[in-house]
Amino acid sequence: MAAGEISAVELTEAVQDRILAVDNDVKAYLTMTPEEALAQARAADERRAAGEDGLLLGIPMAIKDILCTEGVRTTCGSRILEDFVPPYDATAVARLKAAGAILLGKTNTDEFAMGSSTENSAFFTTHNPWDLDRVPGGSSGGSAAAVAAGECLGALGTDTGGSVRQPAGLCGVVGFKPTYGRVSRYGLVAFASSLDQVGVLAKDITDAAILLQVIAGHDVRDSTSIDAPVPGYSAALVGDVQGVRIGVPREYFIEGMQPEVEAAVRAAVDQLADLGADVAEVTLPHTDYALPVYYLIAPAEASANLARYDGVRYTVRVDDGGVDEMYKATRGRGFGPEVKRRIMLGTYALSAGYYDAYYLRAQKVRTLIKADFDAAFEQVDVIVAPTTPTTAFRIGEKSGDPLQMYLSDVFTLSMNLAGICGLSLPCGFDGDGLPIGLHVMGPALGEPQVLRVAYAYEQSTGWHTRRSPL
Ligand code: GLN
Repeated sequence: MAAGEISAVELTEAVQDRILAVDNDVKAYLTMTPEEALAQARAADERRAAGEDGLLLGIPMAIKDILCTEGVRTTCGSRILEDFVPPYDATAVARLKAAGAILLGKTNTDEFAMGSSTENSAFFTTHNPWDLDRVPGGSSGGSAAAVAAGECLGALGTDTGGSVRQPAGLCGVVGFKPTYGRVSRYGLVAFASSLDQVGVLAKDITDAAILLQVIAGHDVRDSTSIDAPVPGYSAALVGDVQGVRIGVPREYFIEGMQPEVEAAVRAAVDQLADLGADVAEVTLPHTDYALPVYYLIAPAEASANLARYDGVRYTVRVDDGGVDEMYKATRGRGFGPEVKRRIMLGTYALSAGYYDAYYLRAQKVRTLIKADFDAAFEQVDVIVAPTTPTTAFRIGEKSGDPLQMYLSDVFTLSMNLAGICGLSLPCGFDGDGLPIGLHVMGPALGEPQVLRVAYAYEQSTGWHTRRSPL
């Protein structure tokens, strides 16, 4: 576009044609806004003609349907918000728009971001572009699949326990969850407020750095957003890891993980050592507790956050006699089974008599998990591990067994509990041609060192240039 070879309108139309060609199979989008997108593209072309030259000016993007978009339906993958049209944009969305990005539509998600496969969406399941019989991961599976299938140039997702990194891993794209507070949560519909974070999905590390640059930064409308300057992330893309200290956590190579995943990640670590990094083993001794701690804290917060869907505010209401009956009928009809399970778990963990035994104890162990990372990051600059124990599983394979489903985030939950950043990028394929994700983690506000390592690895391999057969 800078060279005048293609306009934003032409690019947007090309991506929309691609969506028409493949989205009947992939089902990445819940809502599309074709006219609005073309109007934004025309505006971007005008801005460029007037001399503007931003990196996102005229770039077509997709937004996970849990981020509020002014005038565009925002469902959170739930029947209870089926017709909800927010009167304002989430801050991350507003920043993309201000930079001139084109919004193509809203992508599928597990209901209220609770899930790891998009199978908990109240509307439909998204399919993995590498194998349509398999899940794209979740909960940001729509955004990850849209990037992998070329149905957008980049996307926003959200990550409470892995929902940006896990689908990025399973779809062979880059997914970056920044430090808690680095990106404003204003307009991100709350699941678990102390864990939720907006993240980006992109085709490569350079794109991920550009997207994060635009959405990061303090926001007076989110009291947990960090009031620290945003560094120039592209400065970290030097293509070298000489002397960078990389830790490999003993606890992240577990029994039952797919051997090809372990082999690909170990090969990536060797590759980083060949590039000049200093590799050492580190230990994160409380890793085993991350999953139970997460499944107390996240449902506890969710049970409080989701109390607002009461049939009085936000669209759907099912009248059934008195007020109590209306609450019950609305919530009974509006929420799906996984959301109900979480509300019950969370309400139980917070109730008098159980609070100390479950919720309070989980908070204490959360501190120990964070302390593990603090100690490790005194010795190393980044930690490298697999993103997921297996590659993409088949649709239906785990949907009947919540505990199996929960285990697919066993390597990503800890970073949300600790509030630190993590990025998944492709590091190979298994025997079925399914992508494998490499997880690079950094301390709080360690985004530059994570990007540096990820970029050097990416540039020394060709994985990110492979496209799904679709
Ligand atoms: N899969 C995890 C869950 O179901 C994480 C989801 C997320 O990060 N939003 O809670």
